[in-house]
Amino acid sequence: MSKATNYDVIVIGTSQGGRFLPIAFAKAGRKVALIERGQLGGVCVNIGCTPTKTMVASARVAYLARRGALYGVHTGAISVDLQAVRERKQGMVEGARNNFKSRITAVQGPDLDLLKGEARFSAPKTLEVSLADGGTREITAPLIFIDTGARPKQLTIKGVENVPVLNSTTIMELETLPEHLLIIGGGYIGLEFGQMFRRFGSQVTMIEHHPRLLMNEDEDVSDEVTKIFREDGITVLSGTTAQQVGPLGGGHIQLTVRTPQGEQQLSGSHLLAAIGRVPNTDALSPEAAGIHLDKDGYIRVNGQLETNVPGVYALGDVKGGPAFTHTSYDDFRILRTNLLEHGSASTQDRLVPLRHLHRSPAWACWPE
Ligand SMILES: Cc1cc2nc3c(=O)[nH]c(=O)nc-3n(C[C@H](O)[C@H](O)[C@H](O)COP(=O)(O)OP(=O)(O)OC[C@H]3O[C@@H](n4cnc5c(N)ncnc54)[C@H](O)[C@@H]3O)c2cc1C
Repeated sequence: MSKATNYDVIVIGTSQGGRFLPIAFAKAGRKVALIERGQLGGVCVNIGCTPTKTMVASARVAYLARRGALYGVHTGAISVDLQAVRERKQGMVEGARNNFKSRITAVQGPDLDLLKGEARFSAPKTLEVSLADGGTREITAPLIFIDTGARPKQLTIKGVENVPVLNSTTIMELETLPEHLLIIGGGYIGLEFGQMFRRFGSQVTMIEHHPRLLMNEDEDVSDEVTKIFREDGITVLSGTTAQQVGPLGGGHIQLTVRTPQGEQQLSGSHLLAAIGRVPNTDALSPEAAGIHLDKDGYIRVNGQLETNVPGVYALGDVKGGPAFTHTSYDDFRILRTNLLEHGSASTQDRLVPLRHLHRSPAWACWPE
């Protein structure tokens, strides 16, 4: 490997925080390296907020069309062309990604280097980047920002290796409508797909091991959502744990669950696991830089988003806590205020409307 290239700033990941930070630093005259191993724009643009909300919009149109007669508007038979839904979604995603790409290209040049590849720490303040088009590069900087996000947690119940399991990314690529979608997980991602596919016309069963859906929300909110779901014809099994899964004849899937009333066998055509996310810290090997992680692999930061290694910061989902685009964007604002505008912003006073969220003491991470 050739000699390390020195930068003023390195940003790993191009998502909600990671995409604005390099631009802000480059505009301030710093020499910046931005590294991305996947698609520019990260989860939100490519496989999170943008595509889901686009598909939710299609599902709402199907829902309204079916209810048209209630409003005195008569339509013909309603059918959903999932391939057309998917193409529309893809168009939106590409538009959003290109929009971001053009912002980067506008500042790309001597002050901003975009490296397509996977970064991993090889020493404190030093990263090795395995470039997508071959070869590796070693780069260093006194300031490093980790915005590597998270990915879907894999289902590990008995028999899982014998059936296809969808996650939040692969379910958006289905070409035909599931006849009966079984969803394990009643958090916001599970709910979003549950309602969407019900409105597209699938039968949907939701399995949640907590006593109610949306455990992080106030009880009255989650009760109301459950009521609406049941009214829409979704089967909601709360306090229910998935135990075992296996193939049934005709391409169907059998799921054994433990409900408060005892064991029950469910069968469906498709299975979605929406059981949480895991941080992208394994490939990054932060331990090589002495960066502390919590027991679940999230990077520990203080209120100013600094890790235990001075000059190394983490933002977005990879530091744990509420996993939202606006949280990641606000992390960027905190860093910009403190490091470019000589301010003193902190995550401590940030208002996040979640029921189980306590104010975060320094060095704390939120539980899922
Ligand atoms: C299905 C779904 C729907 C969602 N809907 C919403 C919503 O409606 N509203 C909302 O607020 N939030 C939503 N979210 C959450 C939101 O997408 C995330 O909170 C947000 O994307 C987090 O951004 P981030 O900054 O942590 O980075 P991410 O978006 O996770 O991006 C991290 C980037 O880092 C790159 N990377 C990782 N490791 C490396 C490495 N070693 N080297 C180089 N690059 C690396 C990845 O390729 C990725 O591009 C949704 C998420 C999902 C999954």
